[in-house]
Amino acid sequence: MHPFAYVAPSTVAEAVAELSKHGDRARPLAGGTDLLVKARANVWELDAVVDIKNIPELMTLTINGSGLSIGAGVPCYQVYDNSEIAAQYPGIVDGASIIGGIQIQSRAGLGGNLCNAAPSGDGIPSLIALSAVAKIASVNGTREVAIENFCTGPSRTVLKAGELLVSIEVPKPAANSGAAYTRFIPRNEMDIAVAGVGVFVQLDASGKNFESARIALASVGPTLILASAAGDSLAGKPVNDETIAAASALARDAATPITDMRGTIEQRKQLVEVLTGRMINKAVERARG
Ligand SMILES: Cc1cc2nc3c(=O)[nH]c(=O)nc-3n(C[C@H](O)[C@H](O)[C@H](O)COP(=O)(O)OP(=O)(O)OC[C@H]3O[C@@H](n4cnc5c(N)ncnc54)[C@H](O)[C@@H]3O)c2cc1C
Repeated sequence: MHPFAYVAPSTVAEAVAELSKHGDRARPLAGGTDLLVKARANVWELDAVVDIKNIPELMTLTINGSGLSIGAGVPCYQVYDNSEIAAQYPGIVDGASIIGGIQIQSRAGLGGNLCNAAPSGDGIPSLIALSAVAKIASVNGTREVAIENFCTGPSRTVLKAGELLVSIEVPKPAANSGAAYTRFIPRNEMDIAVAGVGVFVQLDASGKNFESARIALASVGPTLILASAAGDSLAGKPVNDETIAAASALARDAATPITDMRGTIEQRKQLVEVLTGRMINKAVERARG
């Protein structure tokens, strides 16, 4: 492994200055559960690793009237152990609580999951479904990017050299809304999703009709997919088997998987259809309380 400097700044300004100094030869370190594996495999030749865990802003969870802010370095266990998040954002908890085992969840966070940009990232579909936004900093200032536009390909994101993810901002859930995420894995020992589906639904006051929905897919394309036609098909429709089956079929059409050692194209498309139906029903159940 190429020798690199370990830097642990205590402010965002110091961190972005350090990242900018090294360009693409430096990377932020959150939990390290992806970064260290890749560094050891010589995926990059790094001069510096910039540990973000001493930056208070990146290690903070804030939940208030305007929504939830998840610092980029907050580990998964702090997300799913938070009772307010569990009550208001169960879809996020569904993802955070299945990323590896307890040891991984004690280090790894949703920020690292997002920046690693694996098409199978279990934390990402619910963030897309919930219309979350990434807050990004650099020496030139800050910018925001919708999570559905953040990952651009396997291990590729919109982040430019020198940019740092500061937080993930999730809007306050609308009244009568619910969200859910699940993945299919063939056995418990194998943790990379063959297919994953995250769903957000908002119902009307009667709880009998969809007002809006967003459906996001994992592991069935080169990056995460927002299945817009599937979600939009539910708007204004009654909650019943027919509308849910139609949306599930549209989600299946939006999937562009490959055949590999973990599953075939046909199996993955079938999984998307089945899991979408299940997650719409689960999100509806949660929306109805
Ligand atoms: C045994 C094992 C099991 C796993 N199981 C799963 C699983 O079930 N589901 C799943 O989705 N993943 C899984 N993973 C992958 C990994 O744990 C997750 O992707 C995790 O969320 C990464 O978070 P992290 O904090 O460790 O990120 P890190 O490894 O610290 O960082 C990941 C990448 O993001 C970059 N980065 C980190 N923070 C920032 C930032 N603030 N700004 C810009 N770039 C940043 C890093 O430079 C690196 O390229 C597993 C990994 C292992 C080793």
